[in-house]
Amino acid sequence: MDLELSESELAFQAEARAWLAANVPAEPLPSLDTAEGFVLHQAWEAKLAAERWSVVSWPKEYHGREASLVEWIIFEEEYYRAGAPLRVSQNGIFLLAPIIFEHGTPEQQDRFLPSMATGERVWAQCWSEPEAGSDLASLKSSARRVSTSSTTGESGWVLNGQKIWCSRAALAQWGFGLFRSDPEAQKHAGLTYFLFPLDAEGVTVRPIAQLDGEEGFAEVFFDDVFVPDTDVLGAPGDGWRVAMSTAGNERGLSLRSPGRFTAAADRLLALYDERPDPRVADRVVDAWLKAEAYRLYTWGTVTKLKDGGDIGAAGSVNKVWWSELDVALHETALDLLGPDAELESRWLDGYTFSLSGPIYAGTNEIQRNIVAERILGLPREPKGVQK
Ligand SMILES: Cc1cc2nc3c(=O)[nH]c(=O)nc-3n(C[C@H](O)[C@H](O)[C@H](O)COP(=O)(O)OP(=O)(O)OC[C@H]3O[C@@H](n4cnc5c(N)ncnc54)[C@H](O)[C@@H]3O)c2cc1C
Repeated sequence: MDLELSESELAFQAEARAWLAANVPAEPLPSLDTAEGFVLHQAWEAKLAAERWSVVSWPKEYHGREASLVEWIIFEEEYYRAGAPLRVSQNGIFLLAPIIFEHGTPEQQDRFLPSMATGERVWAQCWSEPEAGSDLASLKSSARRVSTSSTTGESGWVLNGQKIWCSRAALAQWGFGLFRSDPEAQKHAGLTYFLFPLDAEGVTVRPIAQLDGEEGFAEVFFDDVFVPDTDVLGAPGDGWRVAMSTAGNERGLSLRSPGRFTAAADRLLALYDERPDPRVADRVVDAWLKAEAYRLYTWGTVTKLKDGGDIGAAGSVNKVWWSELDVALHETALDLLGPDAELESRWLDGYTFSLSGPIYAGTNEIQRNIVAERILGLPREPKGVQK
């Protein structure tokens, strides 16, 4: 692993740093889970895209810079260091786009990627169901084949069922999700990956408030929703394999680049300088070291990927590490702030959000099962135990 950046990487870093310094809003934007904040975050995405900073690793024809993996990590570090806004397009950019690039048709790439890069069309991930969270493959929402739709005359599918915990679906424009297209097939087979507008006929979106009271989630109900063949992603029945390439992204590098935690660790050190408290000092050091360890581990992963390897089950180690680190960082900050924590929104908001880290992107219990079985080679969890 070589931590020395090349001349061109240093130039890229300097350009990103200068652009962010000149353009990051001086005041934090309102939360992207509010109608007002959502629109302002979309405008921020458009601004990023105009200068090709919204999707640096994408091809130039889709607003990207064809940045390397190393440059992407550099950009993420600079982005968080600059205190730039959260990414309202992140579900689309980090979870859906890699799949569109890999499994989408050229027509789908041209139709969906540009508006995703500019933030004009924000995507919600509609995977979870009330009885299918950790055990996602037990999902029941169905897709029935129709050779000709009565309304459009096209061939396609009719979706029915319910999804839940879909982040920002109340404000987003389109959704992506898995549906059971072959009820006879085994659990993981017979699933198909669909893309659909959230204002389509038969779709009902019902917001759910989060811990902070903002309606960051929604339930989505499907009542005979027609989706044309052109909005099926990958082959019908192949949805599980298609979807799993996203799960690896989410747990691994893409959603939680180390920049987010090293920036928070630096802010924690600054807070300690303002309010030194020897009782908390060892936890501040511990959190900072763990953020730095995560950063170095990520560079190790980058080296592995550059050499043609893949993340595989190690993404589960990342997931447990970053989510627990995030809670520890924020708890330590709140302890330093003491009663003032009630008045300080940035650390408090960060703390309430950090509590969800061990749940989303696959709960940490499930990640530990994966680490135990696939990395440590421990016996597999018994299946089919009666509840
Ligand atoms: C902030 C946030 C954002 C989210 N965003 C989205 C989104 O955009 N789209 C979407 O589709 N979903 C989203 N989710 C949902 C998330 O993916 C699910 O909450 C998660 O997969 C867990 O599923 P569940 O809630 O049904 O819990 P369950 O699967 O019912 O699990 C309940 C508890 O039992 C434990 N458990 C279950 N099975 C096992 C086992 N075999 N071994 C050990 N322990 C086990 C779990 O770890 C958990 O602690 C989001 C969740 C959060 C918190």
